[in-house]
This record gives sequence, structure tokens and C-alpha cells, in this order.
Amino acid sequence: MDQDGDAQGGASKAIQPEKVVVDYPRYRAEPGNRASLAAIDPDETEHYRKKKDVARGLEKQRKRIQDLQERLYAENERGMLIVLQAMDTGGKDGTIKHVFGGVNPQGCRVSSFKVPSAEEANHDFLWRYHKSAPAKGRIGIFNRSHYEDVLVVRVKNIVPEEVWRERYELINEFERSLTANGITLLKFFLHISKDEQKKRLQSRIDDPDKRWKFSSNDIKERAFWDAYQQAFEDALGNCSTEHAPWYIVPANKKWYRNLVVARTIADTLEAMDPQYPPAEQGLEKVTIPD
Ligand code: AMP
Ligand code: MG
Repeated sequence: MDQDGDAQGGASKAIQPEKVVVDYPRYRAEPGNRASLAAIDPDETEHYRKKKDVARGLEKQRKRIQDLQERLYAENERGMLIVLQAMDTGGKDGTIKHVFGGVNPQGCRVSSFKVPSAEEANHDFLWRYHKSAPAKGRIGIFNRSHYEDVLVVRVKNIVPEEVWRERYELINEFERSLTANGITLLKFFLHISKDEQKKRLQSRIDDPDKRWKFSSNDIKERAFWDAYQQAFEDALGNCSTEHAPWYIVPANKKWYRNLVVARTIADTLEAMDPQYPPAEQGLEKVTIPD
């Protein structure tokens, strides 16, 4: 049987436009601080040494997400937007697969952003992202996001500097307007080393089952490693805000990355404290007629 929880309380406090930021200092890029990626160890794993050490912990976090997501869906008042960014091979797809594998697909939508279509390119840069923002009760996952418009667009000189520079502020305003409408934002940068990228690209070539993932463009992009790291540092520094913080996740070890992302999402959902809506009055006396 479903529990009703404190349904009455839930109805009145359903919309909380103010920020929901979990007190989880580990890996959060503090607003106003300039993150130096070189100073953050992508091999960090706390006290864990191998995948087995986190298996049960990860399962526990996944279960928390599943339960809380069901409540968020039932409440149908607020939503969550999870942004995933990384260097190529950083593990965006793997994170989605391992963290969200057990979530009810009805309450959750993944949007992947590629090179803009002609129609998308004819609109303001935020247009396609805003259209994919989650509805009430839903969790939206952005596999790449509006941040591409200050990352690849900057590194590849797709628009002039005065255009992309202005975008940090526009992004902060966009994210603020989402939070004001009850969407909680979580942004994860999956931080891998250049060596780790080399290994992962090589294994995409060596393993016939992974070859489809490889594009020769990946090698060209790799040559821009330093420019991308700089662009990421500026994006994280300019756009980690109280209402929409960035988390810099050590991601050389896939199992640790999954644990950190899952734990942060579960803690944030728990802080949102979604409530089942109140049931109709007097239901306990009702029996379904034959
Ligand atoms: P993938 O995620 O490997 O399928 O690649 C998607 C590609 O789309 C990447 O090379 C991104 O850099 C590119 N991309 C995503 N968003 C944009 C954007 N706003 N402008 C230009 N390129 C983009
Ligand atoms: Mg790719």
C-alpha cells in the first residue's frame, strides 16, 4: 500500500520557489570562487578503493532516487533539471545509464543536444533548451546543455567573444527563472584527466562493440583540450550560483563518479521533500463493489 505521508502539510508547502541547495560541500563549486580544474584530482575516490566498495552504496542511492522521484511525480508541483557536461568520453551516457537505470521512465526525460538544427540556429540560443525544460513533477536530464553555447561555441569561434561573454549572465537569468518556477537545478561537470580520455578513446577503437561511439572528430577536439578546460573553468566560475550550483565530480573512476552523482541527486530530492497529494476524504470506509 502507498503511504500518504503528511499529505496535508504537503499541499500547502508544495511550491517553494526559493533555492533548494543541499548542504553538501564536497565537490560543489562555491559561488564566486574560481575553480581551478588542474587543482582538482580526477582520480579522487574518498576512502573507496574499488568498484565493489561502492556497489551497495550506489544501490542504496538509486533506491532513494526511485522513491523520491515517485513522490515528486505524485506531488506534481515541482521539478528537477540535471545538467551533465564533460569533455568527450567524460561519461555522460554512462552516468545516465547507471544512476537512472531504475527510475520510472514516465517521470523522467533525457534530452541530448547536438549541433543545432537550422531551425534551432534561427532562434535565440536558449530556445531549444527552454523547450526541453522539465514540467512539474518531472526530472529532466540534459546530456549536454545550454553550456555548449559558452564551450564548443567559444573554443571553435562560432560566435564572437562579445556574444558568448554576454551569455554567462543570460544563462544565470534563465536558470533563475526556472528555479522561480519550482525547478531545482543540479549541474555536474564530470572531471576526467587528459590521460584518461586517451585511454577511453583508444578503447573505443580497440573494442569492436564500442567503435560506433568513435568519431575522428574526437581526435580533432582532443587537440583543443586546454582551450576546453579554460572554457569550463570560466563557465563553472561564472555560473555556479546559490540557486543553481555546479558540482565538479572526479570522474576517472566511473564507479565513484556514479556514486557521487547519485548521492547528490538523492540528497537534493530529499531536501525538496516532495509529498503525496492528499487523498479524497473518507476513503478508508470505501470498498469496491462487485
Ligand atoms: P555527441 O554528444 O558525441 O553526439 O556530439 C554532439 C556534438 O554536438 C558535440 O561535438 C558538441 O560539441 C556539438 N554541439 C552540441 N551543442 C552545440 C552547440 N550549441 N553548438 C555547436 N555544437 C554543439
Ligand atoms: Mg561524441
